[in-house]
Amino acid sequence: MNKTLLEVKDLTKYYPIRGGLFQRNKQYVKAVDGVTFSIREGETFGLVGESGCGKSTTGRSILRLIEPTSGKVYFDGREITKLNHQELRNIRKDMQIIFQDPYASLNPRMTIGKMMEEPMIVHGISDKSLRRQKVREMLEVVGLNAEHGDRYPHEFSGGQRQRVGIARALMHQPKLIVADEPVSALDVSVQSQVLNLLQDLQETFRLTYLFISHDLSVVRYICDRIGVMYLGRMVELGERDALYDRPLHPYTQALLSAAPIPDPEALRERIVLQGDVPNPANPPVGCAFHPRCPYAVETCRTTRPAFREAESGRFVACHLYETGGEPVA
Ligand code: SF4
Repeated sequence: MNKTLLEVKDLTKYYPIRGGLFQRNKQYVKAVDGVTFSIREGETFGLVGESGCGKSTTGRSILRLIEPTSGKVYFDGREITKLNHQELRNIRKDMQIIFQDPYASLNPRMTIGKMMEEPMIVHGISDKSLRRQKVREMLEVVGLNAEHGDRYPHEFSGGQRQRVGIARALMHQPKLIVADEPVSALDVSVQSQVLNLLQDLQETFRLTYLFISHDLSVVRYICDRIGVMYLGRMVELGERDALYDRPLHPYTQALLSAAPIPDPEALRERIVLQGDVPNPANPPVGCAFHPRCPYAVETCRTTRPAFREAESGRFVACHLYETGGEPVA
């Protein structure tokens, strides 16, 4: 088994908000609330959940693009939550991010080539011809032409822009890439091209991915293991096939029951969840899913379930599995 590259322990990110008379009451939106998981070298780990569940905030907190409130993140054996500014800058070469909307992260007034050279300048590569050579190489690696480096972002299609985003992330040959909804903004036909490219690059450059998406079919296609998030918490984690074939957590069951399936003959009972996702500034006491859960019992309304291993490699936060893998209700 490959070694662990990334370890996330009890990560939280709380945003303060004020309310009440004279704005005196300080409350917190618990965007990420005690998330724990690890990723092995060469693995693609998926974080999935509805919009607003905290998956993107988790990805950004891991990279310290936003500062986590508490918890620990170890990358390649180093605790990155403790690194100072300079140390963090050095380690960022190994940890890159691909955004959902690459256009928003591209400077419209700069050519793609100049933009791709920038991080190399920051990291002290002063040889201009070396930088240009590297840009040309990387553009070709992601399926673009070397000449594309002279063009501006508006001259590219959505799929091409995402390829530029990937090329930019690869400039320092990182070990880990956080891919935050990398194909959500693309047409379905282009999505599969970009997903295949990510898979090819993973093999070529021995990359490890944290793949964040709300799209269950995309996650199933590309990920080896998957973590399911609900209201800032991880509710289930397991190997892809095991999780899709036999989801344990009632929320995962509902989520998967609503996803389209490719076989028109296949029958699946759809679980319709009652109510809306609760306000993250005021999450329900106990299990955050209890107001919508068809199996909720009294304990669920008072006690937060621990995130524990229900069976080998399978973790779940649900009181139903607290006797060792089998539902008790
Ligand atoms: Fe449902 Fe209770 Fe399990 Fe939460 S802990 S998912 S409310 S059964």
